[in-house]
Order: sequence, then structure tokens, then C-alpha cells
Amino acid sequence: MQVYEGKAKRMRPLSEREVEVVFKDDATAFNGQKHEIFPGKGALNSNISELLFNYLEGKGFPTQHLRRVDERTLIVKRAAMFPLEVVVRFQVAGSLQKRTGLADGTVCDPPIVELYYKRDDLGDPIINDDHIRLLKLATPGEVVELRKLALQIASELRGLFSKARIELFDMKFEFGKTPDGKLILADEISPDTCRFRDMDGAGMLDKDRFRQGKGDLLEGYREVHARLMRILKAS
Ligand code: UDP
Repeated sequence: MQVYEGKAKRMRPLSEREVEVVFKDDATAFNGQKHEIFPGKGALNSNISELLFNYLEGKGFPTQHLRRVDERTLIVKRAAMFPLEVVVRFQVAGSLQKRTGLADGTVCDPPIVELYYKRDDLGDPIINDDHIRLLKLATPGEVVELRKLALQIASELRGLFSKARIELFDMKFEFGKTPDGKLILADEISPDTCRFRDMDGAGMLDKDRFRQGKGDLLEGYREVHARLMRILKAS
């Protein structure tokens, strides 16, 4: 069966039901224009993502996660992926800051949900519900459900991270559909796909360190992992 090589993960279908996901050590930014290898990043991200997916399952959100194989390899449920990135924002940063001119950190109350079309050759453009209908990427009912799920999951995670003294500014989700038509959380949740800021002044703990060339990338990821382990053990 065909292997799919993404920028940060390698996916190999194992059967009709399961896919093997290997988390790579590659970091990319600006649609692949900046690229570097950080030995250990794959293992850290697979661990952070597994912790969060297990936590969300415990809260009743269906996810793709099944089990771990080794330090950087997870087995997940096979699902038809929506070619969409669903971004939830609690505070302004990144492309929203550029698009609006608002200051970094401005609070979005209520939070904002954005949809992006996953198409590398188009640069993953932001799109709206009408574009999704035109392109038949999801039904209108599915879009409503994706927005609702993304907001619920993001709010759950914002609460979790605040216990670890981490401000969750924004995050990106991807969803899939199982053969019986259920929407499930897929892909990963990690410092590659979220903006994490330390609440006590230590700054960025996520991929912005790489995007902006500021600080040791993996030190931030290790900090997120360690704090998550601590609060999950205590709860
Ligand atoms: N994001 C992601 N993959 C992408 C684009 C964005 O995981 O291809 C995440 C990013 O890490 C951030 C959030 O989605 O947590 C919002 O990203 P933004 O639109 O600000 O884009 P950026 O300026 O980070 O490219």
C-alpha cells in the first residue's frame, strides 16, 4: 500500500482499518521554504500528541489514536481526511496578526474559527463555508459539526494548558470521517500545530521559536511535554 510522506510525518496504511504514523525530526516553515532537522523532535511530538489525544478521548471526543509502536511511531484509525485545517484562535498571532494589524496577544472573545484549504500548491489558502460548498470538501452540516468540535476541543485544551501555566493562543486541527460517517479528530496536536506561550514570561514554547529563529526549539517542546506529564499525573 502507498506510503504518504508529509513534511513532519510519514503515513503507511497497514490494513483497511489502521495506518502507521511515523513522526519525523524535520521542522519546516513558510510552506517548506525553511527546513531543518531537530533530532528528537519526532519522539517529543508523538508523545505530546498521544497524551493530548488520550486526554480528549477521556473527555468524550472521538480521536484517531489507537496505540504506540515505538518512541516516534503511532498506529491510528484509517479515516477519510477532510482536506481542511481548522484553526481556533483565543489570542491574535501569526497570520491573523498580519491580516488584521491587531497587536500580538489581543484577546479574541469569543474565539475565532478559521478554515484553510489543505493544498500545498496553492499555499493552503484561507477559505469560507461557500468555498467549501463550491469545492465539495465537506457538506454544510459537516462544516457546522467541524466548527463546533474544534471549538469544544480547543476550549478543553485551553483549560488543560492553563493548569500547566501555558497560554494556548491558537491551534490547528484536522478531522477525518470513519466508514460509518463519524467525524474524528485526526493528525496531531503538538508545539508544531499550536502556539504556546509561557504565562510566567519565558516566552514562546512552540514552533514560533523556529519560524522566528529565536531560542532552542526542542527546549520549548521538552518544557511543554514535562509540564503536561506533571499536570496529567496530578489530575
Ligand atoms: N498551523 C499548522 N499548520 C499549518 C498552518 C498553521 O499547524 O499549515 C498552526 C500554527 O502552528 C498556529 C495556527 O495553526 O498554531 C495558526 O497559524 P497561522 O494561521 O497564524 O499561520 P502561521 O503564521 O503560523 O503560518
